[in-house]
Amino acid sequence: MKPCRIAILGSTGSIGLNTLKVVDHNSKRFQVVALSAYNNFELLGEQIKKYKPSHVAIGPEGLIYFKNAGIKGVKFYPSQDCGYLASLKEVDVVVLAMRGVSALMPFLEALRAGKTVAPANKEALVIAGDLIMDEALRHHARIIPIDSEQSAIFQCLEGQKSRPVFVHLTASGGPLREVRSKDFKRITPKDVLRHPRWKMGPKITVDSATMMNKGFEVIEAKHLFNLSYSQIKVLVHPEAIVHSMVEFADGSLLAQLGITDMRLPIQYALTYPDRLPTGLNRLNLAETGALNFYEPDLKRFPALGLAFEAARLAGSVPTVLNAADEEAVEAFLLGRIDFLSIYKVVEKVVLRHTIVKNPSLQAILQTDKWARQEAQNIMEYHLA
Ligand code: MG
Repeated sequence: MKPCRIAILGSTGSIGLNTLKVVDHNSKRFQVVALSAYNNFELLGEQIKKYKPSHVAIGPEGLIYFKNAGIKGVKFYPSQDCGYLASLKEVDVVVLAMRGVSALMPFLEALRAGKTVAPANKEALVIAGDLIMDEALRHHARIIPIDSEQSAIFQCLEGQKSRPVFVHLTASGGPLREVRSKDFKRITPKDVLRHPRWKMGPKITVDSATMMNKGFEVIEAKHLFNLSYSQIKVLVHPEAIVHSMVEFADGSLLAQLGITDMRLPIQYALTYPDRLPTGLNRLNLAETGALNFYEPDLKRFPALGLAFEAARLAGSVPTVLNAADEEAVEAFLLGRIDFLSIYKVVEKVVLRHTIVKNPSLQAILQTDKWARQEAQNIMEYHLA
């Protein structure tokens, strides 16, 4: 069997590192052709030595470093050329592990080149889901999500002839699940970064605390599985064992269960449609015991309601939601605004926005810029 040739964009972040662990566990099955990172060129250097990719993209500082290091057999590119790496003819699967809106162009370029794309990145699908799904369709390119909830839905729908009536996205509830709303005002970045279930970066951990993360996943699921926002339900499930469910017309629910380790959905995306041993612990339900489910509290977590509203309005609104949230979360992490103000800022920017229906790529990027500026304005002058 020929090895699966992969490009990992964002190889030094948590998804990138987990992808390389998956590669290590079945090293004959994979060949790492391309890697990219932005800042962490020391770690990237170690990865180059170990995995011997032929193409590498890196931010400006690292580019100078590697060009002076005289490494043989590797072509180096500036990080804005990630899209080129994603469309190389010797690449089969692109793991999109980079954070932020910068993943959008490489995503589109990979699809245009007909590659299978395994996105862990949320932003691209949230802000440009329609454009992405159109390109995938036009170029017969497959998207196999890595996010655990989306992977679960993908797996539950595999081989089904019928469309689901509903999908149920599960949510661990985040680090503030049991905190009373009157204590939210005093929540510090440190409180939030103690996340109980999944180990993640600071931005996404704050987004799980506000439940905006789940809101983004609602918008993603809508695009990935061609659903209406009203077919998507969110269910709080603190044990994070059921990764999501689909419901059919006859009332049957199919669920995907597993331990909370990102290597499971990553490996599934890379070996699809095959399933291979992972070397990880197996799920023991007798040990796990009770699984709990309940409705999310939209009063305490209004960001989730706002995201549903953005999913309903569609067009350029999800772009505003994403950009304003990114600015506000960054300000919270820097101690510039308090926890409750994250939502206030995002809501204000959304309310000030005039919706663009069916936005072009250019309109999306303009809206993104506008929303960031507007969020900064509000934080500077209009935060009561
Ligand atoms: Mg998730």
